Formats: sequence, structure tokens, C-alpha cells
Amino acid sequence: MAFLFNSDVARGAVFREVFARELPDLQFCQSAEEIEPEKVRYLITWTVPDDISRYTNLEVLFSIGAGVDQFKADIVPAHVKLVRMVEDGIVRMMQEYVALGVLALHRDFPAYIEQQERKVWKGLPARQARDCRIGFLGLGMLAQAAIERLKPFQFPLAGWSRSQKQIGGVTCFHGADQLPGFLKQTDILVCLLPLTEQTRGMLDGKLFALLPDGARLLHVGRGPQLDQKALIEALDSGHLAAALLDVTDPEPLPENHPLWSHPKVMITPHIASVTQPDTAARAVADNIQRHRAGEEMIGAVDRTLGY
Ligand code: NDP
Repeated sequence: MAFLFNSDVARGAVFREVFARELPDLQFCQSAEEIEPEKVRYLITWTVPDDISRYTNLEVLFSIGAGVDQFKADIVPAHVKLVRMVEDGIVRMMQEYVALGVLALHRDFPAYIEQQERKVWKGLPARQARDCRIGFLGLGMLAQAAIERLKPFQFPLAGWSRSQKQIGGVTCFHGADQLPGFLKQTDILVCLLPLTEQTRGMLDGKLFALLPDGARLLHVGRGPQLDQKALIEALDSGHLAAALLDVTDPEPLPENHPLWSHPKVMITPHIASVTQPDTAARAVADNIQRHRAGEEMIGAVDRTLGY
């Protein structure tokens, strides 16, 4: 029985060490050539290898990243379980990034960066945190972790998800019917949705129009969820005040793309949170132990929902 690690060599060395300790009976391989394909029960990868069908006894396909939208799930046999990466490193980094991003948008950093370029020393009217309503699209593991970090600042907090939720200190909305009501009361919109057929292109002109004038966007989900042209229009019309984008489509944007130099836009290169090898290896080893014990794995994907 083997675990095949299909990612970079340095991360693989960390996984190898953790697996030797936690799962000594499982053969660890870092190359498909090292192992007969029928021995592979577990595979970790970023994208699904085209020859996935050669692993006839594969049981679990782990994503090395927090999403599975990059997986061509249709070529993965239906009985194979998909698991996204849920590990402490990703969570901590997302908490930092969202706190930073919300505060940067709240305290007008895009406008101050633009003023600095023009050597302008001018304070802008500052709103208090209790008057700046933060709304999360997606109330999953990462959004809830980020919300915990924001609580001490006293922002009014809300979120929207597919299914109904109850989260202390958070006004929860769910389903398509409640989306407009959620958007109307959101001054800083944080997108932490997975990319699925339902969420692709969701951040569009119609959605922006439902936000109050002067609203801001923090996009940390996936690039294809955002209609970039509609965002530029909403910023140029003055309806939206600023945006911080960690994800774009494509990544990177072409050199001449207007978002690069837009005065109301800050861009980071998809770094909000990154899988940390040590904590990730322990999380995957723990999931394999759960799987062997017949328990639910953490981060198990519902293949019908796509996340
Ligand atoms: P989860 O699966 O824990 O949460 C997803 C949330 O989105 C859930 O609340 C879910 O609702 C909601 N949701 C999904 N589809 C819909 C829909 N159609 N309508 C309404 N709500 C919906 O995911 P995580 O919190 O772990 O991660 C979220 C995403 O963050 C990842 O998929 C990835 O795209 C992105 N990400 C970005 C990173 C970066 O560096 N920029 C790093 C890591 C992740 P419900 O609770 O009802 O199921």
C-alpha cells in the first residue's frame, strides 16, 4: 500500500519525514516510476494527472491546495474521495491576510498609496470601525477563522452561505433569496467562496449595484469568480471605492491589463495563504488515519457540490 506525493521535492522531503513517523507501514513515493500503479491508495497533487486511471486501487485524492477547483474531477473515478487541504498554516495566513486587507480598505490605503505617488499629504475623512459593516461571501472554515480575528475591532460582521448558519456575533444570511439583503448592508465585501459552476462570475455588475455607494471589495476566493471589467466600471463610476485582489483571471494578469495600474486597486499575487509543508503533512497523515478508521476526513469534498 503506497502514498504517492506528486509535488515539489522540497515539500516532499518534509512529508516523507512526517509520514515515516506517523504512518510507518505506508510506502512513501515521490515519483510515479518508483511504484507499481496498483499499489497506490493515496495520491496528493495540485492537478489531476492525465493517467489517473492507471491507479486502479486509488482511494483518496488529496489536493495540495485549499481548493479542488483546479482538479479535472470528471476524469477521477466516482468512487475516489477528494480532499482539499485544511491545515493550520493556511488558516493562520488567511486570518492575517483578511485582517490586513479589511483594515487596509477600511483605513483607505489604496487612496493613500495613490496620494503618495503624487506626493500629496492629505488626510481623508475616517469612518469608525463600528460604522463599517463587513460582509463575507462564504462562511466556511477560512471565513469563520478570519471573522474571529476581526471581532476585537468592533466591525459589524455578517456573512452569506449556501446553507443556514448560526455564528455568534455574525448576522448570517443564506441562499439566493437573501443575497440582495446581505449585500445592501455590506460596506466591505470579502469573497471567500470556492470556485464552482454556481460561483463562477458571481462578482458582477449586478452584484456590485446592490452594494452601498462607496463599498469596497476584498477578493481572496478565486479569479474566475470576478467579472474584472464590471469591477473596473464600478470603480470608475465611483460606486465602489476600492478593491484589494489576491486572485485574478488569468494569473498573472497580462502586462497591459488595466487593473495593474488602476488607482483604486491593490493587487497581491495569490499569496493570501499558502500550504505550509510541515502542518500540511501532519494534516494529511491524520486524514489517512481517519480514512483507515472509517471516519470522515477533514476537508472531504462533496463531489456533487464541487467543494
Ligand atoms: P469551505 O468549503 O469551508 O467554505 C465554503 C463556503 O462557501 C461555505 O460557507 C459554503 O456554504 C459557501 N458556498 C459555497 N458555494 C456557495 C454558493 N453557491 N452559494 C452560497 N454559499 C456558497 O471553504 P474554505 O473556507 O476552506 O475556503 C474557501 C475558498 O477560499 C477556497 O475554496 C479557495 O477558493 C479560497 N482560498 C484562497 C486562498 C488564497 O490564497 N487566495 C487560499 C485558500 C483558500 P455552506 O457552508 O452552506 O456549504
